[in-house]
Amino acid sequence: MSEVACSACQVAITDDRGSRLTEPEAERHAAFCRLEHLVAWAQSDGAWRSGALLEDDEPGDGLGCCAQCGDGLGYGRVLLVRHRGPLRIGDAFCGIQHAAAWAQAGGRWRVG
Ligand SMILES: [Zn+2]
Ligand SMILES: [Zn+2]
Repeated sequence: MSEVACSACQVAITDDRGSRLTEPEAERHAAFCRLEHLVAWAQSDGAWRSGALLEDDEPGDGLGCCAQCGDGLGYGRVLLVRHRGPLRIGDAFCGIQHAAAWAQAGGRWRVG
């Protein structure tokens, strides 16, 4: 099973846990052991890793609009994919700040 390091705290995250954030058009991504670390990372202007990180079976743009504000997705959009065992739960956002705002609000009822 592959592991990645959390972009905020560097703890190892196995493939069935945590969240992956990617900005497809910039071909960069980050990973988080939990959503709180996405918030901390975004607020501290954390470093990205290179690579778009989209797999063939992962959605490219979620529902096609920002899960936080409902606006359409343009350049700078990000995709957050939460890994829960075999499940992959994707949400798209118009930008990193809305992904962080959404995560800070608890990611709605779907997180868990
Ligand atoms: Zn972490
Ligand atoms: Zn938005």
